[in-house]
Amino acid sequence: MIVAMRADATAYEVDLARRDLRAHGLDSYQCRLGGRVVLSVPGARPELVEEVLSVYALGWTADPVGVPPLASAEATAGATRVRLGPAAEFGEDFIVMAGPCAVESEGQLATIAEAVAVHGAAVLRGGAFKPRTSPYSFQGLGGQGLNLLSEVRRTVGLPVVTEVAEPAEVGVVAATADMLQIGTRNAQNFALLREVGRAGRPVLLKRGLANTVDEWLNAAEYILREGNPAVVLCERGIRTFEPRTRFTLDLSAVPLVKRLSHLPVVVDPSHATGDRGLVEPMALAAVAAGADGVLVDVHHDASAALCDGLQALKPAEFRALVRRLRCLLAGLGRGLAGRPDVLPSMASPAAWVPEQVPL
Ligand code: PEP
Ligand code: MN
Repeated sequence: MIVAMRADATAYEVDLARRDLRAHGLDSYQCRLGGRVVLSVPGARPELVEEVLSVYALGWTADPVGVPPLASAEATAGATRVRLGPAAEFGEDFIVMAGPCAVESEGQLATIAEAVAVHGAAVLRGGAFKPRTSPYSFQGLGGQGLNLLSEVRRTVGLPVVTEVAEPAEVGVVAATADMLQIGTRNAQNFALLREVGRAGRPVLLKRGLANTVDEWLNAAEYILREGNPAVVLCERGIRTFEPRTRFTLDLSAVPLVKRLSHLPVVVDPSHATGDRGLVEPMALAAVAAGADGVLVDVHHDASAALCDGLQALKPAEFRALVRRLRCLLAGLGRGLAGRPDVLPSMASPAAWVPEQVPL
């Protein structure tokens, strides 16, 4: 059961409403969504909630069937937007997030960050804490990686998304990152989800590699229930019987989740396919599926990458991808978020479409 308070309800009224619910044996969880406080009241009979709270003249109540309440489309009057710095708002223009899979060194990060910034990324990605399948694989630079991200953010001027893998590290990662990434291997680490729900930073929530859509939305609900409304879902492929791709990119999940939920959805074609040759077609397909953005691995020296080199685009390939994305988006009446000031020649699609994109 969801209860949306009036948009002008005061904190005092919200407190009173929650106290009244508690007096009737009903726990409630609070999140500010779409400009108003929304309460989730699990297991409540709608008539009882309406009776108890009628005095507060609610915005609306709803009983989303089979979808976690705060993540459900019924929780807000429209789609949620998540702002990340001045140039990136998920749910508004299409957001390209790009960078190395892992931060490896100062030089590596600076080279890749400058390339993706110049070629049209709105957000820089890069893992400092890397939860790897094998304990013998490169585990990331940890705190040193965070310092490098923080320096390069200053020089290239892009907001940074980076993974946090343990509840105890949320504070230190949140001190550097503009957006906290929850990786597929931690998608149901509920202690971690609760902690990022309290961290005051937007969250990029990957779908667990063996999670259903409902499990994924429930993972988002853990974050929302802590009061953090800024959740962006990321489809990154699921495990199937097909071994020729690293995972199977479930693109139908994009329009499905947009029907079920108010949260923005982006796609990671790099980790989904594990194959740089498949990244561009899947990124373009993500646009067609209605995604709000993509997360793309880029490396200037992919064969020497310490992590996931086979799926990393080279800078020139990334540049070509962004140009085609921009063209496709323009054809669909959508825009690409970014900084036209960086590349004035790319500000208008007409400047490059005929030259670059044989459609
Ligand atoms: C990543 O994006 O760096 C990553 C490890 O992805 P995933 O959690 O989807 O495997
Ligand atoms: Mn990776």
